[in-house]
Amino acid sequence: MDINKYYRNIPKVDLIMENDRIKDLLDITSRDLVLECARKATEDIRAFINDNPNNENEINSLIKNIINNIILEVHKFSTYNMKKVINGTGTILHTNLGRAPISNEAAERARKIVTGYSNLEYDLESGIRGSRYSHFEKIISRVTGAEAAIAVNNNAAAVLLILSSLAKDKEVIVSRGELVEIGGSFRVPDVMKQSGGRLVEVGTTNKTHLNDYEEKISSETAALLKVHTSNYKIVGFTESVSVEELSDLGKKYNIPVIEDIGSGVLADLSKYGLTYEPTVQNSIKAGVDILCFSGDKLLGGPQAGIIVGKKQYIDKIKKHPLNRALRIDKFTAAVLESVFHEYIDEEKAMKNIPVLNMINMNIADIKLRAEALAEKLKEMHRYLDINVEECLSQIGGGALPLERMQSYAVAIRPVTMSCASFERQLRNLEIPIIGRVVNDTFLMDLRTVLVDEEKIIYDGIKTLFK
Ligand SMILES: *Cc1c(COP(=O)(O)O)cnc(C)c1O
Repeated sequence: MDINKYYRNIPKVDLIMENDRIKDLLDITSRDLVLECARKATEDIRAFINDNPNNENEINSLIKNIINNIILEVHKFSTYNMKKVINGTGTILHTNLGRAPISNEAAERARKIVTGYSNLEYDLESGIRGSRYSHFEKIISRVTGAEAAIAVNNNAAAVLLILSSLAKDKEVIVSRGELVEIGGSFRVPDVMKQSGGRLVEVGTTNKTHLNDYEEKISSETAALLKVHTSNYKIVGFTESVSVEELSDLGKKYNIPVIEDIGSGVLADLSKYGLTYEPTVQNSIKAGVDILCFSGDKLLGGPQAGIIVGKKQYIDKIKKHPLNRALRIDKFTAAVLESVFHEYIDEEKAMKNIPVLNMINMNIADIKLRAEALAEKLKEMHRYLDINVEECLSQIGGGALPLERMQSYAVAIRPVTMSCASFERQLRNLEIPIIGRVVNDTFLMDLRTVLVDEEKIIYDGIKTLFK
């Protein structure tokens, strides 16, 4: 076959730009982008012909589809990729789905602050430069009982900053039962290495005693570190040292005690039917000198790493050069202040912070909501077999790994297509619906579906059967 004939069949870029469907693209994006995609499409075909001169079918198909392919390419740049999704998985802190959702009120307050200027680093009383931490330091101290507070990018950054500020070139003693790995790249020994501190491991995986720590204390010791084993449990023949005992030991030798408590629980969750998780307030009361936790796990706030504790240490941490590199932005600062305001009144926090509200949801209400949604969806009974089924929700986000909560799901078995295909189509809706597939059934746990999302689910599924 004459290869030049193929080349001649590729439409010229000028002609492509005159195509009506291509011209329509100019309403949604720039001429430069469309031109670039058109050029690239023709070049790609030329390269393909050059490499596969005998693949006539594919060459013809590429040439035939050139307009469609250019449109697809342009759309990749002119539509938004990051979008709202509906979480029907029943996992409250779903790391892949953005962990803790923020309340409308907190987001609205932040919107007002970030869309104009704010007093982020301006002291309105004195009219001179202020601190971005001032907006929430008092309220965090009030809620946690700590002397001082600061927040950085996330909890991994908080641990790195604390160790870099207090333990560089010195030793930090940690129990072997607490050498935690949190999701891939955060491992306590690696963070220690990054900070320039030296890890001194004591005890064994299942048992560490107070004298294991005490025996290793020397003039080289910068701190005693306790890490909450948030995402696993060591059960059976076990023993670990409590924060009270460790704090007393630190005091005896005048060595600061650091605790990475992970999830930042401020309310006693055992009151709401969950297993007791150590609270920040309890560790402060026990005498821990520096404590850090995530903002977007059980605290229910924005991504952040919150550091609280004795003023002398927090001051030192604030002055460390790394702090400037890890600092939070104005959006986070605004949301963080809102979230801690809710915690002044625990009852308010349980109601207004979405994560806590989901934990504390009344099971009868979940069932009623599932039944109402199922009833509406039954309109599509020719395509879908719909029921309400009991299911189990979980906390997720590496917190309370063994905990499950009774819940109700709308269970859908598609009649006219496979469950895998149904699941894929829901994932590709304008507002994607993410659920769980169990035994060829698509489950949507209503615990993690916000009330105003029920209509979006109904509308979304309806578009599949128009
Ligand atoms: C989750 C967790 C971290 C990491 O927190 P991020 O906010 O995700 O950076 C560190 N330590 C412990 C114990 C954790 O549970």
